[in-house]
Amino acid sequence: MRRVYLDHNATTPLAREVVEAMMPYLTEEYGNASSIHSVGQRARAGVEQARAQVAALIGAREKDVIFTSGGTEADNLAIRGAVGASAKSAKHVITSTIEHHAVLNTCQALEAEGVRVTYVSVNRAGVVDPEDVRRALTPDTVLITIMQANNELGSVQPIAEIARLARAHKVAFHTDAVQSAGKLPIRVEELGVDLLSLSAHKIYGPKGVGALYIRRGTRLKPLMFGGHHERDRRPGTENVAGIVGFGKAAELARLHLEEEAKRLAALRDELERRLLARIPHTGLNGDPARRTPNTTNLYFDFIEGEPLVIALDLKGIACSTGAACSSGAVEPSHVLTAIGLPPERARASLRFSFGRANTAADVDYVVEVLPGVVEHLRELSPLYKKPAPATAD
Ligand SMILES: *Cc1c(COP(=O)(O)O)cnc(C)c1O
Repeated sequence: MRRVYLDHNATTPLAREVVEAMMPYLTEEYGNASSIHSVGQRARAGVEQARAQVAALIGAREKDVIFTSGGTEADNLAIRGAVGASAKSAKHVITSTIEHHAVLNTCQALEAEGVRVTYVSVNRAGVVDPEDVRRALTPDTVLITIMQANNELGSVQPIAEIARLARAHKVAFHTDAVQSAGKLPIRVEELGVDLLSLSAHKIYGPKGVGALYIRRGTRLKPLMFGGHHERDRRPGTENVAGIVGFGKAAELARLHLEEEAKRLAALRDELERRLLARIPHTGLNGDPARRTPNTTNLYFDFIEGEPLVIALDLKGIACSTGAACSSGAVEPSHVLTAIGLPPERARASLRFSFGRANTAADVDYVVEVLPGVVEHLRELSPLYKKPAPATAD
């Protein structure tokens, strides 16, 4: 059976070059990067080369990048760290309703500790209006955290504009760039952000490694206590092989960004065009413009997303329902609800996210398989009335 993986926003396979770069550090180069002997110093060199590669992907200085255990830890460290470092007695944080749970649940934990949080809403395209952020600012605001690109819709936020607001009001600004890295060009100076989170496994690197960019002068309270690793920001013996793999993945992402963005957008647009032409009661969630090049989110009315994912899996196609990180949960996606979809439509939605190995033949296969699967599931739905035959493209 043909296998078509269209869930790259959940995770990506390791690039072959990444595996090759990691191999020595999983075998003979086992040193502790803090040791002063040569075994340790070779591990240190691997970590520092990776830091340069990750910094280059986002236009940062090497010393402003620290490694973490992933995007989730980077988000936690940025948010809790910035709030914890503020000397204000009453504290207020501004975020959005479409953030990843790594941000949303961190903000909720802060609320339980007495921090006030404003969740700014988004429009139907899944985009935050900077005016709403400005209106939410108070003298107590210590942090604004808004993601650069959404994982479910791909919608891209006006980060530079929000960062200008934050700076004008002397408020720290964090962005979760886990879904934009490798898909959109990122220059931290142009964006004007103070803190920016990355994750290796969304860009063909290993799972369990991430990074946080920390602009010089940004005050941050550490989450954990231990040794003096990572400029005293994040203690713990470095995951050398993982970090080296992340570095290689960042380098590949930077080198291929432009051509790959064009190629993936063309495949994605072709899939959308052909599916929408063939399947009635189906449409695009969010806005076709201003989104990451690899992502599409479509609704198939009268169907539940989970059975559809399972039926497609049986045909070799991997994709996901709106809420990628909560398989098993019945709640409709908070992102699709936030853009105003009724719960039934949010539950009838699928995300297809393209990546490096996908080809035009993958699009052909999905277009061949999906209409029949949708039709079959709809025939089982009591709400569905068979329409007149749709025109083929
Ligand atoms: C995947 C993801 C994360 C979490 O990163 P991990 O490395 O899996 O912890 C955070 N934010 C966004 C937008 C993501 O897509």
